Amino acid sequence: MSDVLSTRTVCCKLRIDSADDATLRTTQAAFNAAATYCATVAWDQAITNKNTLHHVVYGATRAQFGLGAQLACCARDKAAEAVRAARSSHRASCPSFQDDGSIRYDARTYRLMPLDRVSLNTLTGRVVGQLDLGDFQRQYLYDLTWKIGGAELIRRGHVWYLCVTQSKQVPAPDEPLGVLGVDLGIVSIATDSDGETFSGAEVEMVRERYHVRRQRLQAVGTKTSKRRLRKLSGKERRFQKNSNHVISKRLVAKAAEGCKALALEDLTQIRQRVTVRHSQRRRHSNWAFRQLRTDISYKAALVGVRVVFVDPRNTSRMCSACGFCDKRNRKTQSHFECLSCGFVAVADVNAAVNIADRAVVNLPMASALRGQMQAASL
Ligand SMILES: [Zn+2]
Repeated sequence: MSDVLSTRTVCCKLRIDSADDATLRTTQAAFNAAATYCATVAWDQAITNKNTLHHVVYGATRAQFGLGAQLACCARDKAAEAVRAARSSHRASCPSFQDDGSIRYDARTYRLMPLDRVSLNTLTGRVVGQLDLGDFQRQYLYDLTWKIGGAELIRRGHVWYLCVTQSKQVPAPDEPLGVLGVDLGIVSIATDSDGETFSGAEVEMVRERYHVRRQRLQAVGTKTSKRRLRKLSGKERRFQKNSNHVISKRLVAKAAEGCKALALEDLTQIRQRVTVRHSQRRRHSNWAFRQLRTDISYKAALVGVRVVFVDPRNTSRMCSACGFCDKRNRKTQSHFECLSCGFVAVADVNAAVNIADRAVVNLPMASALRGQMQAASL
C-alpha cells in the first residue's frame, strides 16, 4: 500500500498585547507590499521559478520594505504561488495584495511554544502571542501524529488568527474486498447492509425529544420562547455534531476492519428520495446529514477506506432480493415486503443492501469477487 499526503489547517484565535499589535500591523503592511512587488516582477518578467525570482527580488525586498531575510523569502513564495495560480487560470492581470492581507510564516519565521504561546517574526524582532484554543483545536494542534508545517497570520477587524497547516502520510485506498452499504435517515440515522444500526436507541430518543420540545416552543411564540428555541437549537447542534462523530467513527472502523468500501446515497437528493408522511419528513430535514457525510468521508480518507456515492432513486422501494420495484413494497416506514417474491426485511436494511449493490458496479474489485457479489444480489 502506498501512502498519500493528507493536509489540514487548524485556525486559532491569537491574543496579542497592544504594543505587539502595532508591530504586527506594520509588518503585515510591509510584507504584503513586498509580496505585491515580487508578484509584479514575476509577472512582468514571466518568471515562474522561485529560485530565479529569488535572485531578482531578494535585495530589493529587503532594502525597500525592511523585511528580514526569512520573511523576504515567505513574501516571495506567497507572490510566486499567486502568480502561478493566476497564470494557470488565465487571469489577465498581475495579482496584488492588500495592506491587511495575510502574512505567510514558515518553520524559520514562527514557532509554537509551551503553554499555547507562539513566537512570530516581525520587522523588529519577534513578538510572542497567546493562542486561544478550544478543545477541538487543542486536540488537533497537539496531535503528534500530524506534522506541523507553515502558517498564515490573518486579521479580521481587530482580531488576529493563526491558521496552522499540518500534514500526515495516510494510506492510499486499497482495492476493497466488498462494499458496506449505508442507509441514512429514514427510521434510524444510519443502518448498514449487514443489518447493523449505528445511531442507537438513545440518540433516537433524544432526537425525538428535541423535536417535541421545539414544536411546543414554536406554538407559544413569545419572546422568551423564541430565546429558548435559539438556545435549544445550539444544544441540539452540539448533540448532532457529537452523534455524527460517534456514528461516522464506528462505520468507518467497521469498513476498515472488513477491508470494505463504504457506499452512501447522494445526500443532495435525500429529501426528494421517497414520499414520506409528514410526521416522518422531519427526520430527514432535521438531522445534519451533510455534516455526517463529511465526517464519514474525512475519517474514511484517513484510514484508506474508499467512499462511493450512488444514485438514491428507489433504493427504499426496490426489493434487494429480486429487484422488483414498487412503492407498495414498503408496507410501513420500517417494514419491507416484496409484492413479487415475498422477501421480508427491515426497510432500512433492504435499502442499505441496494445501496451496496449499486456501488459494486462502480468499483474496481477483484473480478471473481464482483461476480460473486452480483450473483448474491440477484
Ligand atoms: Zn422481491
